[in-house]
Parts: sequence; structure tokens; C-alpha cells
Amino acid sequence: MLLLDTRLLIVTILFFGVIFVDYLRNKKLPLLSNKIFSGMLYLTAVNLVFNVLKIYSIVHVDQVTPAVSRFCNQVFYITLILVVVALYWYVEILGNQQKRAKSQKIIKRMLPFCLSVLMILFGNLEFYADNNQIYASGTMATTFELTILFYALLIIRSTYRLKDTIAKDNRLAIQGGMVLLIGSSLVQFFNLGLMLSSVAITLVILFIYLSFENPKEYLDEVTGSFNKRAFHLILDEKKEADKPLILISVVIDDLNRIQTMVGHDNTNHVLGVIGSKMNETFLSINPFLDKCVEPHVKLSRRQRRKMADHGFLASVYHTRSNVMTHLTELPLTCIEDQLARLSEVIREPITFDGYTVAVKAHIDVIFTAVYREQESCDEVYDMMNYMATRNQATRENNVHFLDEDVMAQKQRYDTIEAILRKAVESKGFFIVYQPIFHADTRCFQSAEALVRLSDTETIGFISPEEFIPIAEKKGLIMELGAIVFEKVCAFARKEALPERGIEYIEVNLSGIQCVHPDLPTQLTEIMKKYDIAPGFINLEITETALVESGEILQENMKRLRNMGCSFSMDDFGTGYSNLSRMAEVVYDLVKLDKSLIWPCFNDDNPKANAILESVIHMLSQLKVNIVAEGVETAEMADYLNNQGVTHLQGYYYSKPIDEDAYLNFLWAESGTFDPIEHVFETNRNSTGI
Ligand code: C2E
Ligand code: CA
Ligand code: CA
Repeated sequence: MLLLDTRLLIVTILFFGVIFVDYLRNKKLPLLSNKIFSGMLYLTAVNLVFNVLKIYSIVHVDQVTPAVSRFCNQVFYITLILVVVALYWYVEILGNQQKRAKSQKIIKRMLPFCLSVLMILFGNLEFYADNNQIYASGTMATTFELTILFYALLIIRSTYRLKDTIAKDNRLAIQGGMVLLIGSSLVQFFNLGLMLSSVAITLVILFIYLSFENPKEYLDEVTGSFNKRAFHLILDEKKEADKPLILISVVIDDLNRIQTMVGHDNTNHVLGVIGSKMNETFLSINPFLDKCVEPHVKLSRRQRRKMADHGFLASVYHTRSNVMTHLTELPLTCIEDQLARLSEVIREPITFDGYTVAVKAHIDVIFTAVYREQESCDEVYDMMNYMATRNQATRENNVHFLDEDVMAQKQRYDTIEAILRKAVESKGFFIVYQPIFHADTRCFQSAEALVRLSDTETIGFISPEEFIPIAEKKGLIMELGAIVFEKVCAFARKEALPERGIEYIEVNLSGIQCVHPDLPTQLTEIMKKYDIAPGFINLEITETALVESGEILQENMKRLRNMGCSFSMDDFGTGYSNLSRMAEVVYDLVKLDKSLIWPCFNDDNPKANAILESVIHMLSQLKVNIVAEGVETAEMADYLNNQGVTHLQGYYYSKPIDEDAYLNFLWAESGTFDPIEHVFETNRNSTGI
């Protein structure tokens, strides 16, 4: 009959075997806690082997020499203690977010271990098997029990101390495991037999594996590379250790296009292929080359070998839907060739399953620790995102390096974001109005409201062309839009603009506002608050937004139109000009963009007039009113008017002007517009903003 210990051991070995094999099969994240966990697994494997040998030597005393038997026991004890010590460091590193402990602490905590090793090496041991169980006694066994007890208590203490950074479930599991371990130690201590320690520790490892050390947690199913979470952990660890890093991201600029072309699954395949291309390229780095030993990174040969061993050289992370990132500690000189290769490789079309996909992708290269501004991981991540969205691949160049210029632009971007947030909070925008001349009545019957932002303490005036896209990206556009709309309505009510003969005010909507389900309610409430009839509001939607967005925009437009608001198609001639799609949407005005008009007055562009004239002709047939933007001279005004454009807007009539100036303008212009007198006026006091 088998000893009870043996039976338990068999079950444990089976359990452990399954985890171990699964663990070895998956690729692992080169994270400090991960490495310790790997160590724990290997040590446990050795421990289990020696556990078997130990039991064998006890049961077959007659066949095994005492020295061999003693050796087996010693290895068994020492490896098991080591596993528990490793578990202690594992908990510490996990709780301290991958931060290495100070050497003083390491020495203090390792001292009991060293002492116990000495005691085990030189102590005595007696054991016998009886009643289905194994009994052990002597200094060796006692030392073992006490050391295990000591570290188990230490681990429990750490889980309490680090309770904010270790998830509750994990904490409870580790604590439960430790109680089991202490229980088994006590059982053994009082000579009651049963070597449960191995079982208890294997259970803890099994749990840790299943809950948070499973390599699959860090793998990205889509591409087979590591996921974003893994990237954050690694970046945290490396930054914490103050290592200068180079981040190389391959950004697919046209992922959306690829997705519409070949579908979701195939797009994932494309991402996977890009990941493999990166892997292959970086695997060809030889970290032992002379050029890799040099500049700012000083890595020992051992460290370099470790990098190669841990797959660090070929680790690729899926950091954003369209971005794959590799991260290295090697200096730029060492990876230059690979970078050049990668830049070539990503230009090649990807062929699979009968598809050939041409990918437009660029590479962003970011250095940490070179620019002092990038101190935290979040800042690095922010820079990655900034570069990924800002840069594009061109035929000449698809590699972008982080440099002083990018740094400065990013800084301006961040400053504007901060100013924007402040302005949204304090409603610190102001509105200017650009009068629109109606040629048929010769009156300025409408105006376009344009938002303005400036911060005198920092960068002064900021163009809406610069801050509107930032507000869109940072989720501030709905609030900004509401502020603009409210200011327009408040002004119109206060100055009784509708009663003064102003037919409507045009208000710009961003593409993001247009597709927001709350838009109609938001605008309606503001109009009610200021008693503004919806007919007084004309909403400008850009051509691009009209073409790109779907049902919500249609629904929003329908609701607002039913109430009485009218619509303009803004920036006509700059978007995709999807004419068939255009015909589906109802709008009252079309605003010809300046870029369509200005080339007509440029002598070296003979085709521009033909294009403009046929566009005007087409729009007239659709029976929409046309507004021409950017009318700067009398010549432009005459020409457009002759072509049938009835609404004219531009510096020739007036720049966008603040509320008071607009009121003065209306007062001065009441009656008909006299161009000769007007030119004289505007030249004398140019109050444009
Ligand atoms: P937009 O809608 O195309 O606005 C017309 C732009 O042309 C305005 O620039 C205006 O000042 C300028 N402009 C008008 N006539 C002339 C001219 O004769 N010559 C020249 N050189 N320029 C002229 P602004 O105010 O800088 O606005 C730029 C863009 O910012 C606008 O382009 C619009 O897309 C956006 N924007 C402005 N205000 C708002 C707003 O309240 N909400 C939203 N979502 N976007 C706005
Ligand atoms: Ca506009
Ligand atoms: Ca425009």
C-alpha cells in the first residue's frame, strides 16, 4: 500500500505537470515578477523530483546510502524554502509595481534564508516511515519548519501592507495558501507526520498561475503578440529602473480603409503579419556587436544574453488598434540597420488567402530619458499616441523620430488642451460674427458665428482650426459647442437681432457634434431658454461630416429641421464630394469653400473657373442657395454675383468682428450696401478679429 504522502504527492505532481507544460508552451512577458514566477516553477519542479527521491530513500532505507538520502532531503528542504522566499519577493514586486527592492532590504530578508541553509547543510536529521506516514525530526527538519513559518508570516504581512496594489482575490488566495502552509508546518513541527508543505505551495502556485500569471493574460488574441496591458507593465518596469529605451511603433495609417475593404478578420491577419515582420526584423539584431556595446546604454554581456534569451529582442506589443510597438534597451546605432529594413518591409503588400493588401504604414521612433519632459509612463504613452495620429507615411519617408520639434509641437498641443479645459470650465470663449451679404436684397441679412479663444498669459490667440480638432479629440467638443450656441442665442436675444431684420445666424457644428444623440435636445433647450425661434438658426455641417456619418446624423437633422432649423453644407469642394450621397441629404444652403474660389483669380490656373462655374450651375439646378466664402475683392464679388451666387461672405465686406463691432456694422449698413463707401470705411478702421 502506498504511503499517504506518496499518494498526495502523485496528485500534486500531476497538477503541477499540467501547469508547467502549459507555461512552457506560451511565450512569456519579460517582466520582473514573471521571471521570479518562472524561477518558482523551476524550483518547484526540482523540489517535487527530490520529494519523490526523498520518499524513496526513506521507504527503501536498506538500498540507499545515508549520505544520498541526506542529500535528497537537503535539496528538498532548501528548494522548498527557496520557493517560499521567491514567493515573498514575488508578492513584494507585484505589490510595488515591479519596483526592485533596495539592496539593504534584500540582505535583511535573505539573512534568515542563508542561516537556515547552513543549519540544513550541517544539522542532523532523523526520519522513519510508519502508519502510512513519514515522520522527520532533528535540527534540519526544525530549521525547515521555522524558516517556512517565518517567510509565510512575512508574506501575509506583505499582502496586508501592499493591499492597495494587489487585487483582493489574489491577496486572499495568497493568504489562504500561507495559512495552509503554516498549518502543514505546525502539523509537521509537532511530529505528527504528513509532509504537506509541497502540496500547499503547489496549490498556491497553481492559483497564481490561473489567476494572474497566466501568460495568456498578456497575449493579444488578434495578433498573437503581447497586448497593451503587457506593454504598460513592461514600460513601467523599465522606466522604474531608469533605463533609456527606444520605442519603435509601426502605425497603420489606413486601418479603417483596409477594414472596409477586406473585413475584420482579414484586417486582424494583416496586423498579425506586421507583428511577425517586426519580430523577424528585430530578431536579426545581434546585441553582441561592437556598435551595440557603445553609447548611452551600458549592458554587460550577461544582460545582453538575457535579453536574447527572454525574447526581449523580439517582443512586439499591440498597443493601439492600428499600432504595433517594439521596445528595446539597445542604443540606436545597434538597431539602425533593422529600422531601415523594417521601413522597407512594411511597404511591401501583404498577400494571403487570395488577398493582396497594400498597407500604408509609418514608423515612429521614440526615445525615453533623452527628453526630460517624458518622465512618467503616461507621458511616454501620450507621446506615442500623439506621434501616431500626427505622422503619416509618405512616398519619400515613413520613419519619424522624436526630436526637439516634435517635442515643442506636442508641448503646444498640451498647452492648448489645458487652455481649452480652462475655457470650457469658465465659458471663456468669445464669439465673433462675420456678416453675409445677400446680393438680391443688398442687405447683410445673415452672419456666421465663429468661436475665438486666446490666452494672454501663454500663447495668445489660438485659431479655431487648431483648437477645434483638439477639442474633438479630447472629448470637449460637445461642451464647447453648447457654450458657443448659448452665447449666440444670448446675444441674439439681448440685441433683438431677429427684430432688426437679421434672417438667421449660421453656427458651425463639428462632425462629432452632428452624430451625438443628445445634440437636438441640447440645442432645443438653449433656444427655449433664450426664446430664439429655431428658424433663426442655420447649422453648418461640413461636407466631410455629411458624407462620412450615418443614421444618427440623419435623425438629428430630421429632428432639428422639423422644429424649424435650417442647414448649410459647409466647406463644399474640400471633402470627398460624394454627389449621390449629397442628394440624399436636405440642406438649404451650400457654402463654397475659399479653396474653390481663390484659384479662379490666380492666372496660372485656367481650369479653376470651369470647375467653379459648373459646380455653381449644378447647385442652381438643385435649387439650393449658394454662399461664397473668402470674398476678398470687388472683382471676386462681381464675378460670383454674375455667376448666380446670391450670398457673399468675406473680408471684402467685413472680417469676423466682435459683438459691439457687429452691432455698429449693422447700424452703419442699415439700408443698402455701397461698395465704394464701404471700401473706404473698412480700410480706415480695420477691426477684424
Ligand atoms: P469655416 O467654417 O470655413 O469658416 C470660415 C473661415 O474663413 C473663418 O476662419 C473666417 O474667418 C475665414 N474667412 C472668411 N472670409 C475670409 C476671407 O475673405 N479671407 C480669408 N483669408 N479668410 C476668410 P476662422 O474663423 O479662423 O475659422 C476657421 C474654422 O474653424 C472654420 O472654418 C470652422 O471650421 C471652424 N470654426 C470656427 N468657429 C467654430 C465653431 O463655433 N464651432 C465649430 N465646430 N467650428 C468652428
Ligand atoms: Ca463655416
Ligand atoms: Ca471653409
